[in-house]
Amino acid sequence: MTVFIDGHACGYELQRLTQMFFPGEKVAVEQGAPPEDFAGDFLHARYREGLLEAVSRLGDGFPRALRAEAPAGGTAGLEHRFGVLAYTLLSEGTGVRPPWGVLTGIRPVKLFAARMEEGMDEAALRRHFMDERLVSGEKFSLAVETAAVERELLSRSTPDSFSLYVSVPFCPTRCAYCSFVSHSVEQAAKLIPDYVDRLCGELAATGEIARELGLRLRTVYFGGGTPTTLTADQLSRVMDAVAAHFDVASAWEYTVEAGRPDTVTEDKLRAIKAGGGRRVSINPQTLSDGVLAEIGRRHTSARFFEAFELARKVGFDCINADLIAGLPTDTPEGFRASVDGVLTLAPENVTVHTLTVKRASRLSFGEARAELALVDGMVGYARRAAAAAGQRPYYLYRQNGTLANLENVGYSLPGREGLYNVYIMDETHTILAVGAGASTKLRHPVTGEIERVYNYKYPYEYLSRFDEVLRRKKRVREFYLE
Ligand code: SF4
Repeated sequence: MTVFIDGHACGYELQRLTQMFFPGEKVAVEQGAPPEDFAGDFLHARYREGLLEAVSRLGDGFPRALRAEAPAGGTAGLEHRFGVLAYTLLSEGTGVRPPWGVLTGIRPVKLFAARMEEGMDEAALRRHFMDERLVSGEKFSLAVETAAVERELLSRSTPDSFSLYVSVPFCPTRCAYCSFVSHSVEQAAKLIPDYVDRLCGELAATGEIARELGLRLRTVYFGGGTPTTLTADQLSRVMDAVAAHFDVASAWEYTVEAGRPDTVTEDKLRAIKAGGGRRVSINPQTLSDGVLAEIGRRHTSARFFEAFELARKVGFDCINADLIAGLPTDTPEGFRASVDGVLTLAPENVTVHTLTVKRASRLSFGEARAELALVDGMVGYARRAAAAAGQRPYYLYRQNGTLANLENVGYSLPGREGLYNVYIMDETHTILAVGAGASTKLRHPVTGEIERVYNYKYPYEYLSRFDEVLRRKKRVREFYLE
Protein backbone atom coordinates (compact mmCIF):
# COMPACT_ATOMS: atom_id res chain seq x y z
CA MET A 1 0.00 0.00 0.00
CA THR A 2 1.36 3.41 -0.89
CA VAL A 3 0.12 6.81 0.23
CA PHE A 4 0.97 9.60 -2.23
CA ILE A 5 1.20 13.01 -0.59
CA ASP A 6 0.73 15.83 -3.00
CA GLY A 7 0.95 19.50 -2.07
CA HIS A 8 0.68 19.28 1.74
CA ALA A 9 2.42 17.87 4.83
CA CYS A 10 -0.14 15.41 6.22
CA GLY A 11 1.85 12.31 5.24
CA TYR A 12 2.49 11.01 8.74
CA GLU A 13 -1.14 11.20 9.84
CA LEU A 14 -2.45 9.66 6.61
CA GLN A 15 0.08 6.86 6.82
CA ARG A 16 -1.05 6.05 10.37
CA LEU A 17 -4.68 6.11 9.36
CA THR A 18 -4.08 3.87 6.34
CA GLN A 19 -2.07 1.49 8.51
CA MET A 20 -5.19 0.74 10.59
CA PHE A 21 -6.75 -0.84 7.51
CA PHE A 22 -3.56 -2.73 6.55
CA PRO A 23 -1.86 -3.80 9.80
CA GLY A 24 1.47 -5.53 9.38
CA GLU A 25 1.68 -4.42 5.79
CA LYS A 26 4.23 -1.81 4.81
CA VAL A 27 2.45 1.44 4.07
CA ALA A 28 4.92 3.51 2.04
CA VAL A 29 4.67 7.28 1.68
CA GLU A 30 5.68 8.94 -1.59
CA GLN A 31 5.58 12.56 -2.62
CA GLY A 32 3.60 13.66 -5.68
CA ALA A 33 1.10 11.79 -7.83
CA PRO A 34 1.21 8.03 -8.50
CA PRO A 35 3.00 7.24 -11.78
CA GLU A 36 0.59 6.27 -14.56
CA ASP A 37 1.84 2.70 -14.63
CA PHE A 38 1.71 2.32 -10.81
CA ALA A 39 0.50 -1.22 -10.16
CA GLY A 40 -0.16 -1.51 -6.39
CA ASP A 41 -2.88 -0.30 -4.02
CA PHE A 42 -2.67 3.40 -3.36
CA LEU A 43 -4.21 6.43 -1.73
CA HIS A 44 -3.45 9.75 -3.40
CA ALA A 45 -4.10 12.80 -1.22
CA ARG A 46 -3.80 16.02 -3.20
CA TYR A 47 -4.15 19.64 -2.10
CA ARG A 48 -4.41 22.44 -4.64
CA GLU A 49 -5.77 25.96 -4.35
CA GLY A 50 -8.09 25.41 -1.45
CA LEU A 51 -9.35 22.03 -2.66
CA LEU A 52 -8.61 18.62 -1.19
CA GLU A 53 -8.91 15.49 -3.27
CA ALA A 54 -8.39 11.91 -2.16
CA VAL A 55 -8.29 9.06 -4.67
CA SER A 56 -7.87 5.41 -3.76
CA ARG A 57 -7.47 2.29 -5.81
CA LEU A 58 -7.52 -1.05 -4.04
CA GLY A 59 -7.11 -4.48 -5.62
CA ASP A 60 -8.59 -4.71 -9.10
CA GLY A 61 -11.22 -2.07 -8.39
CA PHE A 62 -11.64 1.24 -10.16
CA PRO A 63 -10.15 4.32 -8.54
CA ARG A 64 -12.62 6.20 -6.34
CA ALA A 65 -12.36 9.86 -5.50
CA LEU A 66 -13.72 12.29 -2.91
CA ARG A 67 -13.26 16.03 -2.77
CA ALA A 68 -13.71 18.69 -0.11
CA GLU A 69 -12.99 22.35 0.43
CA ALA A 70 -10.02 23.27 2.61
CA PRO A 71 -11.10 23.80 6.20
CA ALA A 72 -10.06 26.47 8.66
CA GLY A 73 -7.59 25.44 11.35
CA GLY A 74 -4.28 25.17 9.49
CA THR A 75 -2.46 21.84 9.39
CA ALA A 76 -4.66 20.23 12.07
CA GLY A 77 -7.79 21.16 10.10
CA LEU A 78 -6.27 19.84 6.89
CA GLU A 79 -5.18 16.60 8.55
CA HIS A 80 -8.65 16.07 9.93
CA ARG A 81 -10.41 16.76 6.62
CA PHE A 82 -8.01 14.52 4.69
CA GLY A 83 -8.43 11.89 7.42
CA VAL A 84 -12.21 11.83 6.92
CA LEU A 85 -11.84 11.56 3.12
CA ALA A 86 -9.27 8.79 3.42
CA TYR A 87 -11.28 6.91 6.07
CA THR A 88 -14.40 7.06 3.92
CA LEU A 89 -12.62 5.81 0.81
CA LEU A 90 -10.65 3.08 2.57
CA SER A 91 -13.64 1.80 4.51
CA GLU A 92 -15.75 1.73 1.35
CA GLY A 93 -12.97 -0.08 -0.48
CA THR A 94 -12.15 -2.64 2.23
CA GLY A 95 -15.46 -2.94 4.06
CA VAL A 96 -13.51 -2.45 7.30
CA ARG A 97 -14.82 0.37 9.50
CA PRO A 98 -12.35 1.01 12.31
CA PRO A 99 -14.64 1.80 15.24
CA TRP A 100 -12.39 4.57 16.56
CA GLY A 101 -13.00 6.49 13.33
CA VAL A 102 -10.16 8.76 12.26
CA LEU A 103 -8.53 8.71 15.70
CA THR A 104 -5.18 7.04 15.19
CA GLY A 105 -3.40 7.67 18.51
CA ILE A 106 -2.91 5.07 21.19
CA ARG A 107 -4.57 7.18 23.91
CA PRO A 108 -7.95 8.34 22.60
CA VAL A 109 -9.28 8.81 26.14
CA LYS A 110 -6.83 11.67 26.58
CA LEU A 111 -8.59 13.52 23.76
CA PHE A 112 -11.96 12.92 25.39
CA ALA A 113 -10.66 14.05 28.78
CA ALA A 114 -9.23 17.25 27.27
CA ARG A 115 -12.57 18.13 25.63
CA MET A 116 -14.42 17.35 28.87
CA GLU A 117 -11.97 19.56 30.73
CA GLU A 118 -12.78 22.37 28.29
CA GLY A 119 -16.40 22.02 29.33
CA MET A 120 -17.90 20.21 26.32
CA ASP A 121 -21.22 18.66 27.30
CA GLU A 122 -22.35 15.25 26.08
CA ALA A 123 -24.07 16.60 22.97
CA ALA A 124 -20.99 18.58 21.94
CA LEU A 125 -18.78 15.58 22.62
CA ARG A 126 -20.99 13.43 20.42
CA ARG A 127 -20.77 15.94 17.59
CA HIS A 128 -17.03 16.26 17.95
CA PHE A 129 -16.18 12.58 18.17
CA MET A 130 -19.03 10.72 16.48
CA ASP A 131 -20.13 13.08 13.72
CA GLU A 132 -16.82 14.70 12.89
CA ARG A 133 -14.31 12.01 13.82
CA LEU A 134 -16.50 9.01 12.98
CA VAL A 135 -16.07 7.24 16.32
CA SER A 136 -18.71 4.51 16.80
CA GLY A 137 -21.39 4.91 19.47
CA GLU A 138 -19.99 2.01 21.45
CA LYS A 139 -16.43 3.36 21.54
CA PHE A 140 -17.76 6.82 22.31
CA SER A 141 -19.53 5.65 25.45
CA LEU A 142 -16.54 3.48 26.44
CA ALA A 143 -14.19 6.46 26.14
CA VAL A 144 -16.49 8.85 28.00
CA GLU A 145 -16.97 6.39 30.85
CA THR A 146 -13.25 5.65 31.06
CA ALA A 147 -12.31 9.33 30.97
CA ALA A 148 -14.68 10.11 33.85
CA VAL A 149 -13.18 7.39 36.08
CA GLU A 150 -9.63 8.24 35.04
CA ARG A 151 -10.12 11.88 35.83
CA GLU A 152 -10.72 11.19 39.49
CA LEU A 153 -7.68 8.89 39.70
CA LEU A 154 -5.42 11.38 37.94
CA SER A 155 -6.46 14.21 40.20
CA ARG A 156 -4.82 12.46 43.16
CA SER A 157 -1.34 12.82 41.71
CA THR A 158 0.73 15.85 42.73
CA PRO A 159 3.79 17.35 40.96
CA ASP A 160 6.18 15.68 43.41
CA SER A 161 4.62 12.22 42.87
CA PHE A 162 6.41 9.34 41.25
CA SER A 163 5.91 5.63 40.68
CA LEU A 164 8.55 2.94 40.79
CA TYR A 165 8.76 0.25 38.11
CA VAL A 166 10.89 -2.84 38.68
CA SER A 167 11.62 -4.93 35.60
CA VAL A 168 12.12 -8.67 35.81
CA PRO A 169 12.51 -9.64 32.16
CA PHE A 170 12.42 -13.41 32.54
CA CYS A 171 9.65 -15.87 31.74
CA PRO A 172 9.38 -19.64 32.07
CA THR A 173 8.83 -20.03 28.32
CA ARG A 174 8.13 -17.56 25.59
CA CYS A 175 4.50 -17.06 24.53
CA ALA A 176 3.98 -17.19 20.78
CA TYR A 177 2.54 -13.67 20.61
CA CYS A 178 5.08 -12.01 22.93
CA SER A 179 6.61 -8.76 21.81
CA PHE A 180 8.32 -7.87 25.08
CA VAL A 181 11.99 -8.23 25.79
CA SER A 182 11.81 -11.33 27.90
CA HIS A 183 14.18 -14.22 28.19
CA SER A 184 12.95 -17.69 28.93
CA VAL A 185 14.47 -19.11 32.08
CA GLU A 186 16.01 -22.02 30.20
CA GLN A 187 18.19 -19.52 28.34
CA ALA A 188 18.85 -17.06 31.08
CA ALA A 189 18.65 -18.88 34.42
CA LYS A 190 22.35 -18.45 35.03
CA LEU A 191 22.00 -14.67 34.80
CA ILE A 192 19.30 -14.36 37.46
CA PRO A 193 21.45 -14.31 40.66
CA ASP A 194 23.67 -11.52 39.28
CA TYR A 195 20.61 -9.75 37.94
CA VAL A 196 19.04 -9.69 41.39
CA ASP A 197 22.27 -8.26 42.87
CA ARG A 198 22.42 -5.50 40.30
CA LEU A 199 18.74 -4.71 40.61
CA CYS A 200 19.21 -4.18 44.35
CA GLY A 201 22.14 -1.88 43.54
CA GLU A 202 20.11 0.15 41.10
CA LEU A 203 17.24 0.38 43.60
CA ALA A 204 19.63 1.78 46.22
CA ALA A 205 20.99 4.41 43.82
CA THR A 206 17.52 5.35 42.58
CA GLY A 207 16.07 5.56 46.08
CA GLU A 208 18.83 7.92 47.10
CA ILE A 209 18.06 10.26 44.22
CA ALA A 210 14.30 10.19 44.93
CA ARG A 211 14.92 11.00 48.58
CA GLU A 212 17.30 13.82 47.77
CA LEU A 213 14.75 15.37 45.43
CA GLY A 214 11.93 15.01 47.96
CA LEU A 215 9.79 12.93 45.58
CA ARG A 216 6.81 11.03 46.96
CA LEU A 217 6.27 7.40 46.07
CA ARG A 218 2.70 6.68 44.93
CA THR A 219 2.78 3.24 43.35
CA VAL A 220 5.20 0.36 42.95
CA TYR A 221 4.89 -2.04 40.05
CA PHE A 222 6.90 -5.21 39.41
CA GLY A 223 6.50 -6.18 35.77
CA GLY A 224 8.44 -7.85 33.03
CA GLY A 225 8.52 -10.60 31.88
CA THR A 226 7.15 -12.50 34.83
CA PRO A 227 8.51 -11.35 38.20
CA THR A 228 7.41 -14.62 39.81
CA THR A 229 9.98 -16.40 37.67
CA LEU A 230 12.29 -15.42 40.55
CA THR A 231 12.41 -17.73 43.56
CA ALA A 232 10.74 -16.69 46.82
CA ASP A 233 14.16 -15.76 48.25
CA GLN A 234 15.07 -13.68 45.23
CA LEU A 235 11.71 -11.90 45.34
CA SER A 236 12.25 -11.16 49.03
CA ARG A 237 15.69 -9.72 48.35
CA VAL A 238 14.42 -7.35 45.69
CA MET A 239 11.37 -6.34 47.71
CA ASP A 240 13.53 -5.78 50.80
CA ALA A 241 15.71 -3.48 48.70
CA VAL A 242 12.61 -1.55 47.62
CA ALA A 243 11.49 -1.25 51.26
CA ALA A 244 14.97 -0.21 52.40
CA HIS A 245 15.34 2.60 49.88
CA PHE A 246 11.80 3.87 49.30
CA ASP A 247 8.94 4.94 51.52
CA VAL A 248 6.75 1.98 50.66
CA ALA A 249 4.38 2.50 53.58
CA SER A 250 3.11 5.76 52.09
CA ALA A 251 2.56 4.32 48.58
CA TRP A 252 -1.07 3.91 47.52
CA GLU A 253 -0.47 0.68 45.66
CA TYR A 254 2.11 -2.09 45.38
CA THR A 255 1.62 -4.53 42.53
CA VAL A 256 3.60 -7.59 41.60
CA GLU A 257 2.77 -9.28 38.34
CA ALA A 258 2.51 -13.01 38.85
CA GLY A 259 1.52 -13.27 35.23
CA ARG A 260 2.13 -16.89 34.42
CA PRO A 261 0.13 -19.17 36.70
CA ASP A 262 2.82 -21.84 36.26
CA THR A 263 5.26 -19.67 38.26
CA VAL A 264 2.90 -19.04 41.18
CA THR A 265 3.62 -20.92 44.40
CA GLU A 266 2.49 -20.36 47.96
CA ASP A 267 5.98 -19.46 49.19
CA LYS A 268 6.36 -16.80 46.46
CA LEU A 269 2.97 -15.30 47.25
CA ARG A 270 3.90 -15.22 50.94
CA ALA A 271 7.21 -13.57 50.08
CA ILE A 272 5.36 -10.92 48.06
CA LYS A 273 2.93 -10.28 50.89
CA ALA A 274 5.70 -10.10 53.48
CA GLY A 275 7.66 -7.75 51.20
CA GLY A 276 4.79 -5.26 51.09
CA GLY A 277 2.98 -6.34 47.89
CA ARG A 278 -0.75 -5.67 48.01
CA ARG A 279 -1.96 -6.37 44.50
CA VAL A 280 -1.06 -9.25 42.20
CA SER A 281 -1.88 -9.91 38.61
CA ILE A 282 -2.44 -13.53 37.61
CA ASN A 283 -3.10 -13.85 33.93
CA PRO A 284 -4.76 -16.80 32.28
CA GLN A 285 -5.16 -14.95 28.91
CA THR A 286 -7.72 -17.63 28.04
CA LEU A 287 -9.37 -20.48 29.90
CA SER A 288 -9.24 -22.74 26.87
CA ASP A 289 -6.52 -25.35 27.32
CA GLY A 290 -6.30 -25.88 23.56
CA VAL A 291 -5.62 -22.19 22.96
CA LEU A 292 -3.12 -22.07 25.84
CA ALA A 293 -1.16 -24.89 24.20
CA GLU A 294 -1.40 -23.13 20.84
CA ILE A 295 0.18 -19.93 22.21
CA GLY A 296 3.03 -21.70 23.99
CA ARG A 297 1.95 -21.20 27.58
CA ARG A 298 2.81 -24.27 29.56
CA HIS A 299 -0.07 -24.21 31.96
CA THR A 300 -3.70 -25.22 32.01
CA SER A 301 -6.76 -23.24 33.02
CA ALA A 302 -6.93 -25.41 36.16
CA ARG A 303 -3.49 -24.10 37.13
CA PHE A 304 -4.82 -20.55 36.85
CA PHE A 305 -7.74 -21.32 39.16
CA GLU A 306 -5.33 -22.89 41.69
CA ALA A 307 -3.01 -19.88 41.56
CA PHE A 308 -5.92 -17.50 42.02
CA GLU A 309 -7.29 -19.40 45.02
CA LEU A 310 -3.80 -19.56 46.51
CA ALA A 311 -3.47 -15.79 46.23
CA ARG A 312 -6.78 -15.35 48.04
CA LYS A 313 -5.69 -17.82 50.71
CA VAL A 314 -2.46 -15.91 51.28
CA GLY A 315 -4.55 -12.78 51.80
CA PHE A 316 -4.48 -10.77 48.57
CA ASP A 317 -7.66 -8.77 48.35
CA CYS A 318 -6.80 -7.09 45.07
CA ILE A 319 -6.19 -9.42 42.16
CA ASN A 320 -6.11 -8.61 38.48
CA ALA A 321 -6.59 -11.17 35.70
CA ASP A 322 -5.64 -10.47 32.07
CA LEU A 323 -7.47 -11.93 29.10
CA ILE A 324 -6.75 -11.61 25.39
CA ALA A 325 -9.39 -11.37 22.68
CA GLY A 326 -8.42 -12.72 19.28
CA LEU A 327 -5.88 -15.38 20.22
CA PRO A 328 -5.09 -17.89 17.48
CA THR A 329 -7.69 -20.70 17.30
CA ASP A 330 -9.91 -19.03 19.93
CA THR A 331 -13.58 -18.54 19.09
CA PRO A 332 -16.22 -16.07 20.32
CA GLU A 333 -17.75 -18.87 22.41
CA GLY A 334 -14.34 -19.75 23.84
CA PHE A 335 -13.62 -16.14 24.67
CA ARG A 336 -17.00 -15.64 26.31
CA ALA A 337 -16.41 -18.73 28.43
CA SER A 338 -13.03 -17.29 29.48
CA VAL A 339 -14.58 -13.97 30.50
CA ASP A 340 -17.40 -15.68 32.40
CA GLY A 341 -15.02 -18.15 34.04
CA VAL A 342 -12.68 -15.42 35.27
CA LEU A 343 -15.56 -13.31 36.56
CA THR A 344 -16.89 -16.21 38.66
CA LEU A 345 -13.78 -15.73 40.80
CA ALA A 346 -14.78 -12.10 41.47
CA PRO A 347 -11.37 -10.56 40.76
CA GLU A 348 -11.09 -6.87 41.63
CA ASN A 349 -9.72 -6.06 38.16
CA VAL A 350 -9.96 -7.67 34.74
CA THR A 351 -7.85 -6.40 31.86
CA VAL A 352 -8.88 -7.29 28.33
CA HIS A 353 -6.30 -6.99 25.56
CA THR A 354 -6.88 -7.46 21.88
CA LEU A 355 -4.67 -9.48 19.63
CA THR A 356 -5.97 -9.24 16.13
CA VAL A 357 -4.16 -10.57 13.15
CA LYS A 358 -0.95 -8.64 12.57
CA ARG A 359 -0.55 -9.35 8.91
CA ALA A 360 -3.85 -8.42 7.40
CA SER A 361 -2.17 -8.34 3.99
CA ARG A 362 -2.55 -12.10 4.04
CA LEU A 363 -6.29 -11.66 4.39
CA SER A 364 -8.75 -10.71 1.75
CA PHE A 365 -10.75 -7.58 2.55
CA GLY A 366 -13.71 -9.79 3.41
CA GLU A 367 -11.63 -11.83 5.84
CA ALA A 368 -10.23 -8.68 7.45
CA ARG A 369 -13.78 -7.37 7.89
CA ALA A 370 -14.87 -10.64 9.49
CA GLU A 371 -11.82 -10.65 11.75
CA LEU A 372 -12.56 -7.14 12.96
CA ALA A 373 -16.22 -7.95 13.62
CA LEU A 374 -15.23 -11.06 15.53
CA VAL A 375 -12.68 -9.45 17.82
CA ASP A 376 -14.68 -6.27 18.31
CA GLY A 377 -17.62 -8.49 19.28
CA MET A 378 -15.41 -10.21 21.85
CA VAL A 379 -14.26 -6.95 23.47
CA GLY A 380 -17.87 -5.72 23.47
CA TYR A 381 -18.94 -8.87 25.31
CA ALA A 382 -16.16 -8.38 27.87
CA ARG A 383 -17.35 -4.87 28.53
CA ARG A 384 -20.94 -5.94 29.12
CA ALA A 385 -19.92 -8.86 31.32
CA ALA A 386 -17.56 -6.66 33.37
CA ALA A 387 -20.35 -4.10 33.82
CA ALA A 388 -22.73 -6.83 34.98
CA ALA A 389 -20.08 -7.81 37.56
CA GLY A 390 -19.94 -4.20 38.80
CA GLN A 391 -16.68 -3.32 37.04
CA ARG A 392 -16.06 -0.02 35.25
CA PRO A 393 -13.45 0.72 32.60
CA TYR A 394 -10.66 2.81 34.13
CA TYR A 395 -7.86 2.82 31.61
CA LEU A 396 -7.68 2.22 27.93
CA TYR A 397 -5.06 2.28 25.25
CA ARG A 398 -4.95 1.16 21.69
CA GLN A 399 -2.56 -1.16 20.07
CA ASN A 400 -0.67 -0.11 17.00
CA GLY A 401 -0.26 -2.69 14.31
CA THR A 402 -3.49 -4.56 14.91
CA LEU A 403 -6.48 -4.39 12.63
CA ALA A 404 -8.20 -1.03 13.29
CA ASN A 405 -5.91 -0.49 16.30
CA LEU A 406 -8.42 -2.03 18.68
CA GLU A 407 -8.20 -1.24 22.36
CA ASN A 408 -6.95 -2.79 25.58
CA VAL A 409 -9.15 -1.95 28.55
CA GLY A 410 -8.70 -2.28 32.30
CA TYR A 411 -11.93 -2.86 34.25
CA SER A 412 -12.21 -2.55 37.99
CA LEU A 413 -14.56 -2.60 40.91
CA PRO A 414 -14.93 1.02 42.05
CA GLY A 415 -12.05 2.05 44.27
CA ARG A 416 -9.85 -0.94 43.38
CA GLU A 417 -8.30 0.38 40.17
CA GLY A 418 -4.70 -0.36 39.26
CA LEU A 419 -3.36 3.16 39.60
CA TYR A 420 0.05 2.53 38.09
CA ASN A 421 -1.61 1.61 34.79
CA VAL A 422 -3.39 4.94 34.70
CA TYR A 423 -0.35 6.99 35.63
CA ILE A 424 1.97 5.41 33.11
CA MET A 425 -0.56 5.65 30.33
CA ASP A 426 -1.41 9.27 30.97
CA GLU A 427 2.20 10.33 31.69
CA THR A 428 0.80 11.94 34.85
CA HIS A 429 3.98 11.78 36.86
CA THR A 430 7.52 10.49 36.78
CA ILE A 431 8.11 6.77 36.57
CA LEU A 432 11.49 5.77 37.95
CA ALA A 433 12.27 2.43 36.37
CA VAL A 434 14.95 -0.09 37.26
CA GLY A 435 16.16 -3.26 35.58
CA ALA A 436 16.85 -4.44 32.05
CA GLY A 437 14.47 -3.17 29.40
CA ALA A 438 13.10 -0.52 31.77
CA SER A 439 12.80 3.08 30.77
CA THR A 440 12.50 5.89 33.25
CA LYS A 441 9.97 8.47 32.17
CA LEU A 442 10.58 11.85 33.75
CA ARG A 443 7.86 14.44 33.95
CA HIS A 444 8.96 17.87 34.97
CA PRO A 445 6.93 19.13 37.94
CA VAL A 446 6.70 22.67 36.56
CA THR A 447 6.89 22.50 32.78
CA GLY A 448 5.31 19.06 32.31
CA GLU A 449 8.12 18.27 29.86
CA ILE A 450 8.73 14.55 29.36
CA GLU A 451 12.12 12.92 28.99
CA ARG A 452 13.08 9.28 28.90
CA VAL A 453 16.19 7.61 30.26
CA TYR A 454 16.67 4.12 28.87
CA ASN A 455 18.28 1.15 30.55
CA TYR A 456 19.87 -1.55 28.44
CA LYS A 457 17.37 -3.82 26.85
CA TYR A 458 18.84 -7.24 27.50
CA PRO A 459 19.88 -8.69 30.87
CA TYR A 460 23.43 -9.52 29.69
CA GLU A 461 24.00 -5.90 28.56
CA TYR A 462 22.46 -4.62 31.79
CA LEU A 463 24.88 -6.75 33.78
CA SER A 464 27.99 -6.07 31.74
CA ARG A 465 27.42 -2.32 31.48
CA PHE A 466 25.96 -1.68 34.88
CA ASP A 467 28.25 1.31 35.56
CA GLU A 468 26.69 3.03 32.58
CA VAL A 469 23.19 2.20 33.93
CA LEU A 470 24.05 4.01 37.17
CA ARG A 471 25.65 6.89 35.30
CA ARG A 472 22.49 7.43 33.25
CA LYS A 473 20.38 7.47 36.41
CA LYS A 474 22.13 10.70 37.40
CA ARG A 475 20.12 12.38 34.68
CA VAL A 476 17.08 12.13 37.00
CA ARG A 477 18.68 14.52 39.45
CA GLU A 478 19.79 16.94 36.72
CA PHE A 479 16.33 16.93 35.14
CA TYR A 480 14.62 17.99 38.35
CA LEU A 481 17.25 20.56 39.28
CA GLU A 482 17.57 22.23 35.88
S1 SF4 B 1 4.37 -14.08 29.95
FE1 SF4 B 1 4.23 -12.10 28.94
S2 SF4 B 1 6.33 -11.33 28.83
FE2 SF4 B 1 6.43 -13.53 29.27
S3 SF4 B 1 6.67 -14.52 27.28
FE3 SF4 B 1 4.48 -14.48 27.75
S4 SF4 B 1 3.70 -12.59 26.81
FE4 SF4 B 1 5.94 -12.45 26.92
